[in-house]
Amino acid sequence: MEQAGFARQLTDDLWLIDTQFQGERQIIASYLIVGDGELALVDVGAAATLGALLAGVCAAGFDPEDITHLLLTHVHLDHAGAAGALVRKLPHARVYVHRIGAPHLIDPSRLMRSATRIYGDKMERLWGTMEPVPEDRIEVVDDGNEIQIGARTLQVLYTPGHAIHHVALYDEIRRVAFPGDVAGVSIEGIDFVRPPTPPPDLSLEDWDESITRLEALGLERLYLPHFGEIDATARHFGVLRRRLHEWGEIALAGLHAEKDDVAIAADFARAADPVIAEHAQNGAAAADAVRHYELATNYLMSAQGYMRYYQKRHPELLR
Ligand SMILES: [Zn+2]
Repeated sequence: MEQAGFARQLTDDLWLIDTQFQGERQIIASYLIVGDGELALVDVGAAATLGALLAGVCAAGFDPEDITHLLLTHVHLDHAGAAGALVRKLPHARVYVHRIGAPHLIDPSRLMRSATRIYGDKMERLWGTMEPVPEDRIEVVDDGNEIQIGARTLQVLYTPGHAIHHVALYDEIRRVAFPGDVAGVSIEGIDFVRPPTPPPDLSLEDWDESITRLEALGLERLYLPHFGEIDATARHFGVLRRRLHEWGEIALAGLHAEKDDVAIAADFARAADPVIAEHAQNGAAAADAVRHYELATNYLMSAQGYMRYYQKRHPELLR
């Protein structure tokens, strides 16, 4: 809790908090919305970065004790990991989560187990321990619900594809959204969109539909968890959709060649890293950019996501 917090004001009622995942900037963001008696966080980052998150709230000039809403786009560890510890510390905080995600907050053991399969003994250092959220602190949400935070009305949009329990939060008046991971990973200052495609829920069909739905809103700005503000939203979604399918082709070719997850991950890296590096401003920045994208969403996890998707949903394509 002695950690220095990082917060940047975006609008009159909105702050970006950098949760400083792994001590790095621009990997995992939380957004603080200031209402009139409400104080909301959109996504809360990993359990391991709870201190940095709360220090960020303080740096923005607010008392964490006053937090009332924890709005989760989905329950993956980098978005919801700190939720259980937060409700234990914060007397007024309630957790808003899609109904399919809620059971995993009440009992995070399955989430922790599947993450441990990916991260092994690095689990604790990377993510910390996800504490359960007591059921009576959870507000289950579904498509079409509205959440009022001060002057903002946030519509819940069910947007599966990245995760079956994923929602985006849409502010119709300001024409902006907190789209979660279904809008991909694009780190501020680097013109590259990477699709985060983890197992077990990845569905290209669902994801396409979710992108179409978000595109149709004509959004002026996205607030990405990984990482920051995007203004050219039409172009962003176009690139995301194209790359999502390009990587699908790479994964499918790998499966036909009987490659394993490590080899398919290497194919993704070969396709993407030179392009990421090209978009960074200079040599040192290029190495950082490649590393930051990998921290935000890693290739191995993406390979495993596609492999499971094709094996489970499209065995006919593997013949
Ligand atoms: Zn996710």
